[in-house]
Amino acid sequence: MAVVQERELLCKDWLKTPKKLLIDGKWVDAQGGKTFETRNPADDEVLARVAEGSKEDADKAVKAARKAYEEGPWRKMAPAERARLLYKLADELEKRADEFAQLETLDNGKPIKESRWVDLPQAVETFRYYAGWCTKLEGETINVNSNFFTYTLREPVGVVAQIIPWNFPLLMAAWKLGPALACGNTLVLKPAEQTPLTALRLGELICEVGFPPGVVNIVTGFGPDAAGEALSKHMDVDKVAFTGEDKTGRLIVQASTGNLKRVSLELGGKAPNIVFADADIDAAVKGAITGIFFNQGQVCCAGSRLFLEKSIHDEFMTKLTDRVSKMRQGPGLDEKTQIGPQVSREQVERIMGYVQAGQKEGAKLVCGGERPQGDLAKGYFVKPTIFDGVNNNMKIAQEEIFGPVLSVLPFSSMEEVAEQANKVIFGLSGAVWTRDIKKAHKLAAHIKAGTVWINCFNVFDPQVPFGGYKMSGYGRELGKHSIELYTNVKSVWVNVAE
Ligand code: ADP
Repeated sequence: MAVVQERELLCKDWLKTPKKLLIDGKWVDAQGGKTFETRNPADDEVLARVAEGSKEDADKAVKAARKAYEEGPWRKMAPAERARLLYKLADELEKRADEFAQLETLDNGKPIKESRWVDLPQAVETFRYYAGWCTKLEGETINVNSNFFTYTLREPVGVVAQIIPWNFPLLMAAWKLGPALACGNTLVLKPAEQTPLTALRLGELICEVGFPPGVVNIVTGFGPDAAGEALSKHMDVDKVAFTGEDKTGRLIVQASTGNLKRVSLELGGKAPNIVFADADIDAAVKGAITGIFFNQGQVCCAGSRLFLEKSIHDEFMTKLTDRVSKMRQGPGLDEKTQIGPQVSREQVERIMGYVQAGQKEGAKLVCGGERPQGDLAKGYFVKPTIFDGVNNNMKIAQEEIFGPVLSVLPFSSMEEVAEQANKVIFGLSGAVWTRDIKKAHKLAAHIKAGTVWINCFNVFDPQVPFGGYKMSGYGRELGKHSIELYTNVKSVWVNVAE
């Protein structure tokens, strides 16, 4: 088996070093020396103990960010200099891509091929893309009348708190850090408690390449009644950017009201993946698999509701179940693994609860629905699961499972599927598979979601905005839209009247 052996682990020595908080350019213990453990989802072994940042630690980090913003060299630095630092960070990350990929796989569980060929290159390209923006932030001059010279300045928001999830730990850090830094903000990043490691390693690179102290602070720890909540409540944080569950999103909005800080949210999804009879069926089968099983289904834009036109239902299901039954499940460090473990035991229990709910409501379990035994029993594995004959009102069609569970909903007409597609509280993404361009564009316009893929799924680029309609959040990340999130516009009026 081509599993990465322990001796080949590039992050082996690093794992043994203390995992502290990055505050004001220094690595420091959490208050009272508290730590928590992070485990390997493939075998439930402890990987490392990590500093558990408290509310007080969060406060210290905010103070450091504030000082760096108001007094440090960061704001006076030429944009080209900021760009150079971001390019350097991207280069250093790229040089260590194998090490980072292994670390990500160990901490999160995802297949090494995905860490290496998706998470790492995307993170590197995100830093590069935003490095390019540093020198392109411009204001306007506005011709009001001859008595005034009027212009706008695009300024950083100030001190930003960024709270990120565990499904793409490094990539989410890049989506958050890249634009915030390009725009000249200082920040406090709070990685998810399940997956703190790649963010900490990234923190080391940030120090090495020469970002001034206090510009990037990293506080590992928990959310409720801890570092996460303290950051979202903090009266001296100007903006909070959050990616995670919709329930947590609501808490963040509530916590933000004290100083009315700006909030951007990227929350859950329940994407319709719609296949018409005139589609390229083999491509759509592959798209359905990527749509739901990529990253073990722990993707907010996962195509968790597969709408199949009735006339192709049987053919499609035969091809789909045949492929899915052959998917290789195993530890993420095995090069052959196509589907790894879920991130935590808690997630496994949650997913299994949904499997039971699906059966109870009368959906037909056609594969999976259980945990693998044998070698994999120790890890947090759930077999890829498909329910057929799902009705859009069922719990498994309405709630975000965040696991490898696909609901298949047969449909008869364009009108029917168009209506059902939008009947969920979420609106993050959707997909349409057809050879008919009219149908494709009509549905693309009709689906209430921030991203619609036509004859593809899960395609991303740092240039293309991503975000939600409805309860999937607000604000758009990536592209020039992140620049809006991390800047303020100021209008300046100059009296030039004679
Ligand atoms: P999940 O339940 O899937 O872990 P969450 O939305 O709870 O997803 O977690 C995403 C991020 O939000 C994590 O970094 C977590 O620590 C943080 N978090 C959780 N609860 C809160 C909260 N009440 N306030 C601020 N941050 C939180």
